[in-house]
Amino acid sequence: MILGCHVQMKAPEYVLGSVKEAISYDANALMLYTGAPQNTKRTPADRLLCSEARQLMEDHGLDMKNMIIHAPYIINPANSVKPEVAELAREFLAQEIERTAAIGAAYLVLHPGSYTTTDLETGIATIAAQLNTIEEYHGVTICLETMAGKGSEVGYRFEHLAEIMEKMRFQENYGVCLDTCHISDAGYDVKDFDSVLDEFDRVIGLDRLHVIHLNDSKNERGARKDRHANLGMGTIGFETLHAIAANERVSHIPKILETPYINKKPPYRYEIAMLRSGVYDSSVLENL
Ligand code: FE
Ligand code: FE
Ligand code: ZN
Repeated sequence: MILGCHVQMKAPEYVLGSVKEAISYDANALMLYTGAPQNTKRTPADRLLCSEARQLMEDHGLDMKNMIIHAPYIINPANSVKPEVAELAREFLAQEIERTAAIGAAYLVLHPGSYTTTDLETGIATIAAQLNTIEEYHGVTICLETMAGKGSEVGYRFEHLAEIMEKMRFQENYGVCLDTCHISDAGYDVKDFDSVLDEFDRVIGLDRLHVIHLNDSKNERGARKDRHANLGMGTIGFETLHAIAANERVSHIPKILETPYINKKPPYRYEIAMLRSGVYDSSVLENL
């Protein structure tokens, strides 16, 4: 199983520290933001200890394909009401693609954004127009994330992502990140994951799925809320999440945990161990 989690990326060890953190959880995948997810302030890539990080990955037999970068969720390429917001997103994204390439990662996860006071179709058109101004991808694939449909979010149906990707000039540079909490909140029945994959394949194409975010959800299916829960502590449940982690059709795809800290401590070491063993023990998490 290719299992990892969201890890920190901060001074003084930056990306090297991220890899060390992932290894400490017995993870063989990881996801990091290149700075604070809620702002666009960034340390230059040449100070992030990228080659040291790549060396450590190699020493531990970890594939660089399983190091995922997540763009900050503050950027909103769907905003046509304030064009400067979409413009900032576009400029930042062009630099973020360069940083992703400098780090040596292949996949950059991006939230499609929110259409605010316009409508879904305008949001989709705005995202497509913004992304289509990007000329250089440096070998990076942008993975549009499936969203919960909170507020005016775009991307809570596979059709939205398919429509954006169809409009892309450089289609080979686009793929998808599927978040189990988000699609459940959006109304998909993740307990019947094979049917979800069938639908994904029909609408988007399974070959375009590159990352899975494996999260339980605090809310009922269809709630359109987006609150992640620890494994087995939400409405999806451990059995379903374990079955997704073990599903042969997505065995080559990294599964990244974005579950909340418990008592200010990261739960990932234990959640990863339970997914690998298939044995769930809630007391391990409750007593963290
Ligand atoms: Fe995300
Ligand atoms: Fe996610
Ligand atoms: Zn989320």
